[in-house]
Amino acid sequence: VSELFAGLAPDGSTRFIAEVARGRSCDCRCPECDSPLIAKQGSLKVWHFAHEGGQERPECEVGAANLLRRLAIEVLRARSRLEIPPWRVTVEVRLGMFRDVEDVELASEPVAPWMWQDAPPRHASVARSRLSDGVPIELHVEVGSRSGPTVDPEAAAISFWLNIPGIEHLQTRASAIEQIEQGGQWVWLQRPDPTGVAARAKARLQAKLEAKERQRAEIAERLAAEAADRIARATEERRLAELHSQHEAEQRGLRRAQLRAELIPGLVPGYAGEGSFMLYALKPRANATAPGQHLAWLVYPLEDGATALKPWPQDIRHDVPATVGLWDEALGLYRSALAHVFLYLRQQPVSVRNTSDIDQLAEWVAELSSGGGYEGDSRDKQHQRSDQRNP
Ligand SMILES: [Zn+2]
Repeated sequence: VSELFAGLAPDGSTRFIAEVARGRSCDCRCPECDSPLIAKQGSLKVWHFAHEGGQERPECEVGAANLLRRLAIEVLRARSRLEIPPWRVTVEVRLGMFRDVEDVELASEPVAPWMWQDAPPRHASVARSRLSDGVPIELHVEVGSRSGPTVDPEAAAISFWLNIPGIEHLQTRASAIEQIEQGGQWVWLQRPDPTGVAARAKARLQAKLEAKERQRAEIAERLAAEAADRIARATEERRLAELHSQHEAEQRGLRRAQLRAELIPGLVPGYAGEGSFMLYALKPRANATAPGQHLAWLVYPLEDGATALKPWPQDIRHDVPATVGLWDEALGLYRSALAHVFLYLRQQPVSVRNTSDIDQLAEWVAELSSGGGYEGDSRDKQHQRSDQRNP
């Protein structure tokens, strides 16, 4: 309020600007500083009271607001019943990732008649009563700022709060009352909860969220356990598979070593003691009786300078023309000459390997008997190399 809308008449009553005569005739004074007031009722500005000689101070505006408060108190006192709203609060609980709310309402209708204070000081309560749960309640009336009321901490407190309307709405008592009726709002300042309605709601929410949280934790734990179990099973399966293949490799190695050891003694009968061995693996025939089993020739120098052409397996006798070599029953091989052997084997699809290490030779033969061996078209190259090494 920048200007006064009312003053105090000599009898102490509140006089609104439009309800007095112009000028000094109403003999009104400032409710705050007691200075004489002049009623300004011109045609340019909104009607208002002015201090004589321009003595307005900021406090005088507060005095005007206080007049409005007094009027509001009168209006409320005149009502047969005050319709105050119930006290409501939203209780909120958070727990981990969960949140829940519950609206709590406390019956806050006074159960005793309001006891009104006469001329209550500013910011003091204007009336007191009692609520059904025994809590005293105090009523405040505040004009302008919402903050400021002094409240008994043990009591419930509600404020009838009015924002100060523009002076043009406060020209008469009737229009001021209309502003109070329309603009006044109930604002709860506090409400003790001696029976613990809100606390119980909070405990209920807490229990609900704890149950939810437990459920979530259980599910998370179960999922984690399942995942750990899956990983453990997969690890175990992998470990077993590794063991198995390791074992198989060991078994294969053992079988081969065993085979080699068995092979070596009778592998190259009559061997000259030096000079390299050649293994000619023949392409398996379509009508081979043992699938995967290969026929081969072992070629190596004999002690007397001839070249051995030994069939393998030993019990299979190849049909070798007499022009190539003659069968030596004692050694189980054809005696031949290197040049004849080359000419003869050149006509057959073979793969050739060459070594001077009998262990290596036995290894290759073992390989043949376990299914490996023929390596396709490497013959010519291998043959050439054999030629060079075995002139
Ligand atoms: Zn004043």
